[in-house]
Amino acid sequence: MSVSAVCPDRNSYHRAVVLNCVRQCRAVSRTKIAELTGIRLASITELVKGLCDEGLVGEIGQTDNGARGRKRVQLGLRKDYGFAVGVEFDADHVAATVLNVAGEVVGHERRSLAFGPDGESGVAQILDIVKTLCKKMQIGLDKLVGVGLADPGLVDSAEGVSILSTTIPGWRDVPLVNLVGGALQVPAYLEENTRAKLLAEKTCGAARDADYVMYVDFGYGIGCSVSMPNGAYRGHTESAGELGHTCVVENGPICQCGSYGCLETVASLPAIARLAREAIAHGGGSQILELADGKVERITPEHVFQAGRQRDKLALAILEQTGRYLGVAIANAVNLFNPELIVFDSRMASVADLLVEPIKNVVIRQALRVATKGLRFEVSQLGEQAGALGAATFVLEKFFAVPQLSIPRFSNV
Ligand SMILES: [Zn+2]
Repeated sequence: MSVSAVCPDRNSYHRAVVLNCVRQCRAVSRTKIAELTGIRLASITELVKGLCDEGLVGEIGQTDNGARGRKRVQLGLRKDYGFAVGVEFDADHVAATVLNVAGEVVGHERRSLAFGPDGESGVAQILDIVKTLCKKMQIGLDKLVGVGLADPGLVDSAEGVSILSTTIPGWRDVPLVNLVGGALQVPAYLEENTRAKLLAEKTCGAARDADYVMYVDFGYGIGCSVSMPNGAYRGHTESAGELGHTCVVENGPICQCGSYGCLETVASLPAIARLAREAIAHGGGSQILELADGKVERITPEHVFQAGRQRDKLALAILEQTGRYLGVAIANAVNLFNPELIVFDSRMASVADLLVEPIKNVVIRQALRVATKGLRFEVSQLGEQAGALGAATFVLEKFFAVPQLSIPRFSNV
């Protein structure tokens, strides 16, 4: 292995550094870029000229330079240079968000539908929402810098393959990046949904100022993602964070993953609805049944949440038990990862006092005191857009990535 094989070209490295300086400062002069980056002013001038010629950077105004009175030209990103699309999908929906290169949301669409159930129909739904949204925003596909895909199941992000989803039947080994990127003729990237949501929280949500963050995803499935200062923790086969498949009930209900007593079987949205149906079928009286028009089979998790807010006894008992199970699993994760901040999925916002508070109490009681010292809890404010927003942000992270030096291994030489 030659050393030059792992060294980025100096010019492309400096170009990326200057571009990121303009991106992060939003408005900055050439002189200030030289000060901040340590790159010679003459090189900055040349690099900025190249970025302006590409249409990525433009002159956006002038500022006074203090007492000397000389004005300095301010540079900024040309926001309409290109756009990133993020797509999030799960068993009951597909959603897309469009960001311009400055990271501003310019469009969003969400469709409630039965997603998939196999790769072919799922990819068709993804392509349709991307094309429809871009058409609506009058953005040509040639203006896309990439498409990010937030996947609810296990992924191989390096190969771009969606391996498995326990919430979408028939979804297995789908080469999403090739299928979507090939059809749209743009770079495509695959990221696990919970990690995409965490990226959205770190970029524009509750976790902007935190390094060690745990995001708890809650819906059809349950997962968590953990960030460190240099990015998300993925694990050897990218399956880190499968909180929903940690065992909380020995010999409990069978799980879609093939194991027994997983958290998902007793505390996910489908589990909440199932517990209510079972209790009512066994003669339990509850407002939940009235909210479902007297039909047990129509009971949804939202009926349980609604009844809980009206202090219905059965609903409160189900939510208390759910909170306890979630709390135990999260307390274990806190002991393992020691986050400074836990961000709960926005789907918990409507029942924060009934679900999040019991979880917090169990975590504080159960986890090590040293692991919970200074630990903060937040509920996501990004709403249903979080996954798609994170996937689009992931595209921008790739687009603006600075080529990194990696140290070669000499042990085999
Ligand atoms: Zn499981």
